[in-house]
Amino acid sequence: MAGEPQDDCLFCKIVAGTIPATIVRQTETTVAFRDINPQAPTHVLIIPKAHYENAAALAEADPALTADVLREAQAVADEEKLDSYRLVFNTGSGAGQTVWHVHGHVLGGRGLDWPPG
Ligand code: IMP
Repeated sequence: MAGEPQDDCLFCKIVAGTIPATIVRQTETTVAFRDINPQAPTHVLIIPKAHYENAAALAEADPALTADVLREAQAVADEEKLDSYRLVFNTGSGAGQTVWHVHGHVLGGRGLDWPPG
């Protein structure tokens, strides 16, 4: 069922605490943790605790939860004292999505080129 934990999902396991992660923030509905392969001095992933495959599926199913995720990006940026940051939701394998539990990458702490590679 939409939103239910998936047995084979890495990020559902981080939510459940069965795989360790460096958690920087947690709310009733979201978890923010450091990316294991950081691409910037700050590289934090924000996920809803509920399982949705990508940002579009999340927005379709639960607009309030979508807003929670977006709000947490700013909260992470504030805690990390980032003046500016990039918030990225890779969607689809062609765009680099490798984990099929929606996650926003918060990247900051260095200059970020545009367009991205
Ligand atoms: P995607 O490529 O946009 O799907 O992003 C997946 C991200 O998850 C990548 O940046 C990975 O480095 C990161 N990642 C994979 N496994 C772990 C983990 O166990 N802990 C934290 N980050 C992870």
